[in-house]
Amino acid sequence: MERIDLDAADPGFAEALASQPGGERIAACFMCRTCVASCPISAVDRRFHPLRIIRLALYGLKQEVLASDFIWLCSSCYACQERCPQGVKISDFMTLLKNLAVKEGHVPRGIRAQLDLIREHGRIYPIDDFDNKKRNKAGLPSLPTSCDVVAKLA
Ligand code: SF4
Ligand code: SF4
Repeated sequence: MERIDLDAADPGFAEALASQPGGERIAACFMCRTCVASCPISAVDRRFHPLRIIRLALYGLKQEVLASDFIWLCSSCYACQERCPQGVKISDFMTLLKNLAVKEGHVPRGIRAQLDLIREHGRIYPIDDFDNKKRNKAGLPSLPTSCDVVAKLA
């Protein structure tokens, strides 16, 4: 069984989370595990466990939560949030944790690479003439090959 070091806990972390959109109801969690049973990521990787992330956050283990790669595995499918009997906004909570992780400088390399692509090109996947030919063949209109407006926003 994994040991949790509460000496490293930040006592104000749970309260700070509860005051932000997505964190309002985390203290209402009564550990029924409906979220875990609903989660398609947990189904393929047992190490991903939304309830565990909520408990760690409630214990104040800020660094363990924000530096974890696991929060980035959440696909924001909302299956857990729709089913939580306690109204915990689990999907929104995961988004809150991801945003805080970015602010603290914890961004997995793959996510950082996607961010850089959006900054530079305005989209993650470049569109070229070959893609547009395939689109046209399928009866779809061509897309612009550059996305300068989004790149400027990023
Ligand atoms: S479904 Fe809601 S109440 Fe049940 S364990 Fe998950 S967060 Fe907690
Ligand atoms: S929103 Fe995230 S945590 Fe919730 S079920 Fe979907 S993948 Fe799992």
